[in-house]
Amino acid sequence: MNHRHLLPNEIDLLLDSEVGFGVAPLRAHVEECAPCRAQVDEARAVVEALERIPRFGPAPSFANRVMADVQVIEPWHVALTAAVSRFIPRTTGMRVVFGVTASLASIAISSAAVWLAFRGDVAMYLAGLIDERLRATLTAGAASAVRGLLGSGAIEAIGAQGMAAVAVGTAVAVVAAGSAALGLRAMASASRRSRE
Ligand SMILES: [Zn+2]
Repeated sequence: MNHRHLLPNEIDLLLDSEVGFGVAPLRAHVEECAPCRAQVDEARAVVEALERIPRFGPAPSFANRVMADVQVIEPWHVALTAAVSRFIPRTTGMRVVFGVTASLASIAISSAAVWLAFRGDVAMYLAGLIDERLRATLTAGAASAVRGLLGSGAIEAIGAQGMAAVAVGTAVAVVAAGSAALGLRAMASASRRSRE
């Protein structure tokens, strides 16, 4: 008989039914020692009870449901990149349309802004919505802004170009806006098709 009782890890070795160096003496001790045999039997009963317990696991959709409620804070540049890339089409053809449309839209917006800046008084006069005094104030403001940006000669130059310049500018803006609208419609229908 060995000189000492079994240690917990030695009981584990016996329960795992491992065979190897050192297991045989442990078995021999358990054969002869009632307290150690009782401990091993008790431990074996626990292991067998644990193996009979049904195994519980989360439902497959559990992770998704949790993550749906988690606020993931992403850096602004990541969010911006994702937002922009969502609008960029996947096919090369649609990318060309997208690029042209974006350029046309920016041209339309720029020309409209420039037209308004230089001919804001005309727009307001035609619309007939703004009263005389406000119109005069805004016109004076626009004129002084132009003078500040381009020098006092710019006002005379704009005045000299007259209605021809306004007509050309308006035509460019209208054509650009119309083409941009067509491009946007093409992209919208393309993305609808790809989603179906
Ligand atoms: Zn013992």
